Amino acid sequence: MSEKLTSKKAMELEDKYGAHNYHPLPVVLAKGKGPKVWDAEGKEYFDFLSAYSAVNQGHCHPKIIKALTDQAQLLTLTSRAFYNDTLGAYEKYITEYFGYDKVLPMNSGAEGDETALKLCRKWAYTRKGIPENQAKIIVCANNFHGRTITIISMSTDPEARNDFGPYTPGFITIPYNDIPSLEKALEEDNVAGFLVEPIQGEAGVMVPDEGYLKKAYDLCKAKNVLFIADEVQTGIARTGKLLACDHEGVRPDVLILGKALSGGAYPISAVLADDDIMLTIKPGEHGSTFGGNPIAAKVAVAALEVIKEEKLAERAEKLGKIFRGEMKKISSDMIELVRGKGLLNAIIIRPKNGKTAWDVCLKMAENGLLAKPTHDHIIRFAPPLVISEEELMQAVEIIKKSILSF
Ligand code: PLP
Repeated sequence: MSEKLTSKKAMELEDKYGAHNYHPLPVVLAKGKGPKVWDAEGKEYFDFLSAYSAVNQGHCHPKIIKALTDQAQLLTLTSRAFYNDTLGAYEKYITEYFGYDKVLPMNSGAEGDETALKLCRKWAYTRKGIPENQAKIIVCANNFHGRTITIISMSTDPEARNDFGPYTPGFITIPYNDIPSLEKALEEDNVAGFLVEPIQGEAGVMVPDEGYLKKAYDLCKAKNVLFIADEVQTGIARTGKLLACDHEGVRPDVLILGKALSGGAYPISAVLADDDIMLTIKPGEHGSTFGGNPIAAKVAVAALEVIKEEKLAERAEKLGKIFRGEMKKISSDMIELVRGKGLLNAIIIRPKNGKTAWDVCLKMAENGLLAKPTHDHIIRFAPPLVISEEELMQAVEIIKKSILSF
C-alpha cells in the first residue's frame, strides 16, 4: 500500500473496486495547499471547485490542520453518551458567531438538512398545533439538499430520484424565485416550513431576484411558517457575506451549515435555531455518534476563526466582482451567460462544433485549472477564498485561453 500510485493506476483501482456513483474528471489529486492542488505526477492546478465550496479557507489551512492534529492526539470520539471538554466551547462559539440560541451538531450536509426537517416537523406538532402526521414543508424545484431518501423525495431531478421510491410524503414543490407560487402554497393547510437555498448551487448557481429572500421570509412570518435556509454551499463567506441570507438582512429561523464549517478538513455540519424551536427535540429523539465529536468541535472553531481573521467574506465580494467582469470580457460565442455572487459563479456554455462544458473542463485541466460541469452546460467557478488577486488573474487567463481554443 505504501508504493506511490501513478494517476493511471489510481483511476483503474477506483474504477474496479469503487461503486460507479460519480463521474470524475480524469485527474488524480495528491496534494493541496491554499487555492492549488497537485496531481500524482506533480502537475499544478488552480482548484476552482473547492470540493463544492467546502474548502473556502484553502487546502490544508495550517491553523485548521493544527487544530485537527492536536485534538486527534488527545481525544477523538466519546459519543454523546458522555460530555466532552470541547463541545460546549464550540457550541458557545458558533451560536455567538451566527447569533442563535442553540446549535445541533451533525456531520454531512444531508444530515444537517434531515435534522432541519425533523426539527420543523417536531415544532409544527408541539408548538404550532398541526395535527399529527399532517405537516407540510414547502421546497423549491431544482433544489439540491443531498442524497438521503427523504431529501431525494423533495428533489425534482430524475437522476437523483428515479428507481429510489417510494418517496417520503409531506412536501409541496414550487418553482424557485417565484413569490406568487409561495404565497399560494402558504395558503394550504398545515404548512410548517419553507426550505430554500439562498442561491441554488447544484442547479447551476441560480441567483434569485433581489428581494426574493426577504419577501419570502416576510410571507413565512405572516403565516407562522419556519423559514429554513440551506446555506451548506452558500454559507461561510462564499458569496461575499458570512451568509448569503445576509445580503438581504434575512435571519433564517433554522440555519443549516456544512462543508466550509471544517474548511474541508473533516465532515462537519450544524443546524442553528433559537430555543423555542430547538428545544422541541428532546433527549433520544435525534442524534449521531460522530456529531459534535472533539475533533469536529476544535476544527470548526478554527475554520470559523480563519474566516474572520483573513476577512474571507470581504475578499470573496471583491474578487467575485473582478472575476465576473473578466468572464464577461471574453469574446466567445461559447459563453452564453455569466452569473453569481461573491466567489460562487457560473458560466453557461453554448456547445460549439460538438464541444460541450465537459470538453471545456478537460481543456482547462490540461491548462492547469480544475472545474466541473453541472447539468451538462454549466460550469461552476468557486475557488478557495484565500486566492490572491494575482492568482485569480492567472486563473482568468487559463479560462480565457481554454475557451478561446475552441
Ligand atoms: N445542501 C446543499 C445546498 C448542498 O449543496 C449540498 C451538497 O452539495 C448538500 C446540502 C449536501 O451536503 P453533503 O454532500 O455534505 O451531504
